[in-house]
Amino acid sequence: MGESLSTKIETIKVCHTLLQRPEFFQLLVQIDTELATQMHASACQCGGVLHRANYARKPKACPEEVLGDFVSRWSFCCNLCRKRSTPMSVRFLGRRVYVALAVVVLAVSRNKTNAAIAQLAQTLEVPERTIARWRQWWLQCFGTTALWQAQCGRFMPSVEMTELPQSLMARFTGAAHEAMGRLLMFLSPLSVRI
Ligand SMILES: [Zn+2]
Repeated sequence: MGESLSTKIETIKVCHTLLQRPEFFQLLVQIDTELATQMHASACQCGGVLHRANYARKPKACPEEVLGDFVSRWSFCCNLCRKRSTPMSVRFLGRRVYVALAVVVLAVSRNKTNAAIAQLAQTLEVPERTIARWRQWWLQCFGTTALWQAQCGRFMPSVEMTELPQSLMARFTGAAHEAMGRLLMFLSPLSVRI
């Protein structure tokens, strides 16, 4: 990371503002690149070679500056058995068209102190009904995922499930970009079918 980039990122204080920081999205691209490179270097279970076979995406809530890096969900196909291998991702959360970061930070419950989040959702043209669906997923589905079933025990005291996603966000500390980067990494298994 260049010095100017890290200096800029140090000025980030609040997680939702990351949605308007192309520098943070570039970090996510770097992380996904590493995850894809690791997978590409491994062979298919059948012994075949993995070739790139990306899925086209039309991401929403993605800054213009990095859109070119977000129009593909990186994936591979075995040259022998044709089986798909798709690496985990911090850019996308499952098949949602919105970037993973939006599904986390725009879904936090609103109050007077974070009125800026509603404003940001408007600026990014994310419909309230979409955000309501994300909230519903956080409150009703996230707790049932294999990821959460396997990992919830590592949080002590336990995460307040009726206050997701902010109760989970609060467990990842540090500067906003570091905390959010680690949280998206934690959630990345949800980006693939497991
Ligand atoms: Zn294969």
